[in-house]
Amino acid sequence: MDRLTEIWNKTLDILQKEVKSVSYDLWIKALEPFEMKNGTLYLSITSATAKNQVLKLHSKQIKEALQEVSGDIRDFKVYDIDEKEALIQTERETEEKLLEGDSTAENVNVFKFNPRYTFDTFVVGNSNKFVYAAAHGVAENPYYGKINPLFIYGGVGLGKTHLLHAIGNYIREHNPELKVLYTTCNNFTDDYVESLKSGDNTATGKFRGKYRNVDVLMVDDIQFIGGRQSTQIAFFDAFNDLYQNGKQVVIASDRLPRDIKDLEERIRTRMEMGLMQDIQSPDFETRLAILQKKAEQEKVGVDAQVINYIAENCDTNIREMEGVLNKVCFYATLLGKTTATMEDVSEALKDHVSSTKQSVTGESVIDCVCTYFGVNKDDLVGKKKNKEIVEPRQICMYIITELLDLPLTSIGQLFGGRDHTTVIHAREKVNNDLKTNARLRTMVEDIKNMAQHR
Ligand code: ADP
Ligand code: MG
Repeated sequence: MDRLTEIWNKTLDILQKEVKSVSYDLWIKALEPFEMKNGTLYLSITSATAKNQVLKLHSKQIKEALQEVSGDIRDFKVYDIDEKEALIQTERETEEKLLEGDSTAENVNVFKFNPRYTFDTFVVGNSNKFVYAAAHGVAENPYYGKINPLFIYGGVGLGKTHLLHAIGNYIREHNPELKVLYTTCNNFTDDYVESLKSGDNTATGKFRGKYRNVDVLMVDDIQFIGGRQSTQIAFFDAFNDLYQNGKQVVIASDRLPRDIKDLEERIRTRMEMGLMQDIQSPDFETRLAILQKKAEQEKVGVDAQVINYIAENCDTNIREMEGVLNKVCFYATLLGKTTATMEDVSEALKDHVSSTKQSVTGESVIDCVCTYFGVNKDDLVGKKKNKEIVEPRQICMYIITELLDLPLTSIGQLFGGRDHTTVIHAREKVNNDLKTNARLRTMVEDIKNMAQHR
């Protein structure tokens, strides 16, 4: 048995004792270790939904079990199948390039777009018809077009990445001679840092070549560029070159350029120069249509009532909605049924619902916020006034008022005996910021989820 398998088997032994059996069978057993590098263990799992569930429900337990088994492992990462494929692909590409000493965009077209993310599989409704049209327009006509750059923005799980891949898939099919490069902001940053590290001109030249010798450059999750000054400059240079040569740039972000923290003015202006198109939460009919389409791909049939129920109850995030559908179908399959019915819905969502409320307390929310932001509990409830502490503190107060029916004075007590007016102020401040700040919305959602599923 190799060391990786050995470590993972021991970890499973520990987890089996700690995790409820249904959850263990569903999520933990689905994990497969595939690599160990620099103190991190890499695991893969069948779908993005399963990945989200595992991370949401069992992150802490997995990490602790791993650390208990092996002193060398400090952390772990979970990739869904698509991400794992992309990872292996990128590694292979890098190897190939090193072997061939080839840096330029020759190999760009090796990147595999997710075959399930196409325009055909994208359901169009009122919330996304403009962004769909814009993306399709770019895919049809990616040169000297008027839509340049196309800047797509909107909340988590609403289809931004899907559209970028759809553009990629479309161009591959209709214009295979064009070089399309898809990257995430984090990959771009890594690449840039890597090119600097080696300190020679060839490396910098390779980096420049890679991002300039393309016909279409797509950068996903650009919001992470905030605060990364030298990456911003590298991006600015690449962008200008491409733009001047009539090449297409497509950017996706969870917020508007002006809401990206610490973004240089000149870069913001560049991003705003073309078309900024938002993607909104889908309305009921669109949700229904999306679910119907997804249900067709499931191995079991899905009762119309089930689809209705999910469409009514999951109204913000399409990824989460898909997750619920998958879970329901999974339960039906476990029970050997041919059609998923409302019974499976209550079974699938039982954990979800019953674990909510009972276990959430002011203290537990405080713990979650501390873990989430990596701050110390004494600081969070203490007197410090620096931004790094004040923001998490206010978010924490807000979430407690949202999740618990506690008197404001008791909440003040939890934070070192603060006055109830401080709590009111925090609640209003966060409430206001949430209207414009998508990143904050995600954070608040994540923390609420964490608190409710501990
Ligand atoms: P984002 O990048 O905005 O966070 P994704 O593109 O990853 O979101 O989408 C999340 C999931 O929802 C994906 O599985 C995607 O296929 C699906 N999805 C989003 N919008 C649609 C849509 N309009 N039609 C069909 N599936 C969609
Ligand atoms: Mg995305």
